[in-house]
Amino acid sequence: MPEECLFCRIAEGKVPAKLVHSDDTCVAFTDINPQGKLHVLVVPRSHIPTVNDLAPGDEKLVGHLFSVAAKLAGDAGVAADGYRCVMNVNRDAQQSVFHIHLHVIGGRKFGWPPG
Ligand code: AMP
Ligand code: ZN
Repeated sequence: MPEECLFCRIAEGKVPAKLVHSDDTCVAFTDINPQGKLHVLVVPRSHIPTVNDLAPGDEKLVGHLFSVAAKLAGDAGVAADGYRCVMNVNRDAQQSVFHIHLHVIGGRKFGWPPG
């Protein structure tokens, strides 16, 4: 339920987070357990549990999350060197918060394939 959802609560300002971006459709904040010098989560204000739950009208929203991700990567100075945008989905991908969020991680080299 959204009332019990951590990322809904952060987006509503009811749980503190280090916000780096806020607009009508999304917020972005520093991950509490950063996996790079840059690690922010871009989170829509609307409660969508997983990528599997996206509806046909959500394309613009998802595109906006990527636009914000690119802006934040630019602000952090990692855009040219590179960074990773990731949305984990369900158990095999180790999704732990069931409100979609785009991880934006940079400031180091990554391996491929991912673990
Ligand atoms: P995922 O495993 O893809 O669902 O990612 C959830 C992310 O949320 C993890 O990287 C956590 O470190 C992060 N996280 C969990 N709680 C908080 C919080 N209160 N503030 C910021 N990031 C959080
Ligand atoms: Zn939520």
